Amino acid sequence: MRPGFDQLVEDLERGCTTDGQVVEGVVCVADDRLYRRAEDLARFFSALTRQPGRVHIDPRGVRDPYSQEGLLQAVRSLEAAETETRVRSQRLTNWHWARAAEGVPHSGPRPFGWKDDRITVHPVEAPLVEKAIADRTGGRTVSAIALEWCALGVTGTRGGGPNPQTVTQIMTAPRVCGYRANRGELLLVPETGHPVLGQWQPIVTPDQWQAVCATFSPGNLYMHRGSGTPRLTETRAAPRHLASGILRCGANRQDGTVCRGRLCAQKGRSRRSPYVYSCRECRRCSISGPLADEALERLLFSEAAGQAQPSEAVRRRWHAGEMDLQEKRKIIATVFTRCDVRPGVKGEPSWDFSRVEPVWCGGHLRPPVSPGSQAGWTHAEPTGQ
Ligand SMILES: [Zn+2]
Repeated sequence: MRPGFDQLVEDLERGCTTDGQVVEGVVCVADDRLYRRAEDLARFFSALTRQPGRVHIDPRGVRDPYSQEGLLQAVRSLEAAETETRVRSQRLTNWHWARAAEGVPHSGPRPFGWKDDRITVHPVEAPLVEKAIADRTGGRTVSAIALEWCALGVTGTRGGGPNPQTVTQIMTAPRVCGYRANRGELLLVPETGHPVLGQWQPIVTPDQWQAVCATFSPGNLYMHRGSGTPRLTETRAAPRHLASGILRCGANRQDGTVCRGRLCAQKGRSRRSPYVYSCRECRRCSISGPLADEALERLLFSEAAGQAQPSEAVRRRWHAGEMDLQEKRKIIATVFTRCDVRPGVKGEPSWDFSRVEPVWCGGHLRPPVSPGSQAGWTHAEPTGQ
C-alpha cells in the first residue's frame, strides 16, 4: 500500500492535482523512493508520459522521460533499488545476520585465539592456532596437536582442556581467516558472492584455512556441524535424529528468495510422526520426521547417489541394524552437502518422499577428503567392529 504513490500516478494521468494545479513534471530526490518494483516503474512512466512536454528532475538534473536514455536511467535505478530491497529484507530476517553482515563479532565467551575484545589476536593463543593449522596441513594428527597443547598447559576460554574435537573446531572455524559464518554457513555478500569479512584480525589466510579444512572429512568440519563460534569447552548434546542438521528449508520468503533455514527436530503430534523437522526461521516448512529420515535413507542407497553411494558392506551393516545413529549420521554427512525440503501442501497428507531434494557432496563446497584423515570416516570399507 503506497497511497502517496497512487495519488501521484492519478494526478499525472489526470494532468492536475486534486486542487486543480497543472502537473508539468516530477521532482524526485531518490528513485528508490519512487519505484521499487517494475510494476511501479511501468505505472509511473505511462502516467508521466501521457501528456507531452513533462520533465523528470532528480538530484543529477533534468531527465527526458520520453527518450530512450531517460527510460534506461529509470530501469537502472530500479535494478539498484531491487538489489537494495533484497539485501535489506535479508538482513532484517535475523538479527544475527545483520550483526554478521557488518562483520561484528558474536556475543558470548571470547573465541580461543582472540582477546576479550574479540578483535585483537591473543598473543599466546593465536600463534598456537597458526602453528596447529600449519602442522595439521603438514600431516600431523589432531591428537598429537591436542596432546602438545595439554603439555603446554593450554586451557579453553572457559577453563576446559584441549581434545582432538575442540582443536578441530578451532582450526576449521572460518573466523581464523576472517570469514564470517552464521549457523554453520559461510556468509556471502549477496551482490558479489564473496565471503563476508569480520572486523577481527585473522590468524591465517583463506588459503591456509581451506587447506586445513581439506584434511578433514566433511562430517568433522566446523561448517558441517554448524556450531557457533568454537570454544574449547563447548559441549553439545549429540543429535538424536538421523536428519538433524542436514535438512534445509525450501520455503519461499516474501521477497522471493528461498529461506534455507535449518530444520530442527521437535516433538510431533501424531502417532505416525512422533517427531517432525521444522524451520524455526520462517516457520513455513515442516516435514514428518520418519518421512524425512526414510527419504534420506532411500536417497543414500539410490542410483542417484552415484559415486557418493556407500559401499555394499556399509549398506548391509546399515540395514542389519549394526550401526548406531552417530555412525549413520557421519555417513550421511559424507554423502549430502544438505537436503532441501519442499514445504508440504496443506490438506494433502500424502507421504511424499520427493519433498526431500538432495544436494550431493562433490559440489563446490565439499573439501577433498584426504586419505590420511585423522578423523577417520571415509568411503573406505568399514572396520567391522
Ligand atoms: Zn524456512
